[in-house]
Amino acid sequence: MEITGYTRLAGLIAKPAKHSISPLMHNTAFKANNIDAVYLSFEVEKPQLAAVIKSITALNMIGANVSMPYKMAVIPYLDELSEAAKLIGAVNTIVPSGNGLVGHNTDGNGFMRSLADINVDIIKKEMTIIGAGGAATAICVQAALDGVKKINVFNRQDDFFATSQAKLETIAQKTQCTITLRDLADTKAVNTAIYHSHLLVNATAVGMKPNEDQTALSDFSAFHENLAVYDVIYNPRETKLLQIAKEKGLKTANGLGMLLYQGAYAFELWTGKKMPLEIVKPLVENS
Ligand code: NAD
Repeated sequence: MEITGYTRLAGLIAKPAKHSISPLMHNTAFKANNIDAVYLSFEVEKPQLAAVIKSITALNMIGANVSMPYKMAVIPYLDELSEAAKLIGAVNTIVPSGNGLVGHNTDGNGFMRSLADINVDIIKKEMTIIGAGGAATAICVQAALDGVKKINVFNRQDDFFATSQAKLETIAQKTQCTITLRDLADTKAVNTAIYHSHLLVNATAVGMKPNEDQTALSDFSAFHENLAVYDVIYNPRETKLLQIAKEKGLKTANGLGMLLYQGAYAFELWTGKKMPLEIVKPLVENS
């Protein structure tokens, strides 16, 4: 694609940012849709964050993604938040509008959309999630908004446990979903929850490279034939947790689907066009 005087800019604001596959996804999608725009990765230092967010408007950018460590830090610089972003308390997509900059969070939507790829339907059903950090909260919010009946959240006794209790209560109050938060060390409670669940999600970094031999769970005896197991990690593609679930013949998914579809939702918010998944999905899978 030729860059002209009309070419518009989109980009990722994060640190680190250079490793991201978002430029590959969005530039491919811009080209396939004949949209005269480019997507770049910007590794931003914290003192520059306010100026960078202001430049989205000043440079008439198409939009921006936000990743670690700025998903919460950008909120004071935005004019409006989507319902999901408000409940999650974090933003991964910024959309310029007539009323200023709107913060969205497409991680949870991306997760929910990716379940269709493994034919898993959890609406009106129960799920169990390990972790109460950013990814877990995004998943809980969208699952609750979409109509999941009950979410059993388990976290170790760290700072996340203390801070997420109030957040999870608010999510439960604003939706029809029952949400509990309990100690991950309570194996009996974990097993009972898994036994009643249709989906188990690891939303911690436990099992990620270089700690591929680790799992956040230590007991897999409650895994049953109607359980699907999802790991938000995509590096490695198959974590130890997924290996164990596969050995038991269960449906599994890694975090690539969540990554792909959060990008697809962001693209749609910026352009009003669908991301050409038939082209972008293989690129993400082979990245
Ligand atoms: P975070 O720092 O916000 O939360 C980390 C969570 O992991 C917390 O709940 C913490 O208590 C828990 N945790 C940390 N170490 C643990 C341990 N040893 N045992 C048990 N629990 C532990 O991080 P996050 O942004 O939620 O990211 C979590 C994972 O999700 C990362 O691997 C990240 O790469 C992945 N992620 C994937 C996608 C995707 O699109 N697939 C999107 C966002 C995040």
